[in-house]
Amino acid sequence: MSRELWKPRLIRWANTGPGRGIVLRTRLELPKTVLGRKILQRKNMNPSYSWLHKIKGEVRRDELLSAHTSIRVGGPADIFILPRDAADLQTLLRHRGEIPLFILGEGSNLLVRDRGIRGIVVSLKESFKTIHGPHFDTPGEEEPTALLRAGAGVKLSYLAKYAARFGLTGIERLAGIPGSVGGALIMNAGAEGTEIGDVVESVTRITPDGEMETLNRDQLSFSYRKTVFPSEGGIIVEATLRLKKGNAAKIQETMDTHLTRRSQTQPLTVPNSGSIFKNPPGDAAGRLIEAAGLKGTRFGQAAVSLKHANFIVNQGQATARDVIRLIEHIQETVREKFGTELEREIIIAGE
Ligand SMILES: Cc1cc2nc3c(=O)[nH]c(=O)nc-3n(C[C@H](O)[C@H](O)[C@H](O)COP(=O)(O)OP(=O)(O)OC[C@H]3O[C@@H](n4cnc5c(N)ncnc54)[C@H](O)[C@@H]3O)c2cc1C
Repeated sequence: MSRELWKPRLIRWANTGPGRGIVLRTRLELPKTVLGRKILQRKNMNPSYSWLHKIKGEVRRDELLSAHTSIRVGGPADIFILPRDAADLQTLLRHRGEIPLFILGEGSNLLVRDRGIRGIVVSLKESFKTIHGPHFDTPGEEEPTALLRAGAGVKLSYLAKYAARFGLTGIERLAGIPGSVGGALIMNAGAEGTEIGDVVESVTRITPDGEMETLNRDQLSFSYRKTVFPSEGGIIVEATLRLKKGNAAKIQETMDTHLTRRSQTQPLTVPNSGSIFKNPPGDAAGRLIEAAGLKGTRFGQAAVSLKHANFIVNQGQATARDVIRLIEHIQETVREKFGTELEREIIIAGE
């Protein structure tokens, strides 16, 4: 083939890259010279996903995240990974380069915008489900305690019921929180005066470099709906909780009362993402929103729940845009009426 025929091919090659197996970062750094012409490569060219075949779990493209959030809202993830094990996560973290990464638990504290999440979304919904223990271990203490080691993908409600079966107290009030252990640790999830941070002994995560790291309780700091880690990033894979030995019947009763109360006060049969706002000090966000006359207010198909004013419900085909407009409207109204700034509890991700 003549040199003239090759020329357009080579220029196209320089613009799009040779495809699999080459890391985007290094390709973008320098312009290429092809047949004496300097070619500046496009910044938006597809990053390299050539390593995805090494993932043993499931890899999906353009997965709609509305199927993975409790409020049933959210556009697609470019790449959606259901890892099989920690090795999959290490592969991903070591190869992803500059590709953005978002970790999804049960999606119960999350609003994904309508155009979805660029890069990779990893869902721990179908892995890291193992619970080890209880191991009774009471070092020099009077009250008997036990350690439970739970994978990040275990549902908190399941873990609370599991602990109750062994007469272990400490997380029975968390039984109605529909998140995963991983999500609960990030959010320091809590209810009725109990927070998961109260019982955490250690947390194991895979660092952004793909290394396994165990953090002890004293390396973490827990505050209202927030856990601070010594460094950002990584993927939580496991946590060890220290629970006290209690009275099994009493634990079960507390759990039942708690679950009944929630079903009476929260809109559990309609898609939602839990409390939208944190409670301001000394007050309740729901009380303020209700007092501002906002119950039932809607934008599109997103509405302030009639059952609990701190919940926004998806009445059918709500979009993230509807939900965000409603959130902003609530914040403005409460600010105008009471001078209180409502801080969001839910996480908003994507574009
Ligand atoms: C009906 C209802 C009731 C609720 N009641 C309560 C309540 O009483 N108390 C309360 O605290 N919350 C409540 N929530 C909110 C929610 O359930 C909790 O915040 C829960 O802990 C979120 O867990 P998740 O697995 O769904 O996390 P997601 O919503 O999937 O994610 C939350 C955050 O954690 C990160 N994340 C998740 N897993 C990991 C991981 N393995 N490693 C690193 N990062 C991770 C995500 O990237 C995201 O930033 C409620 C929600 C609903 C829908």
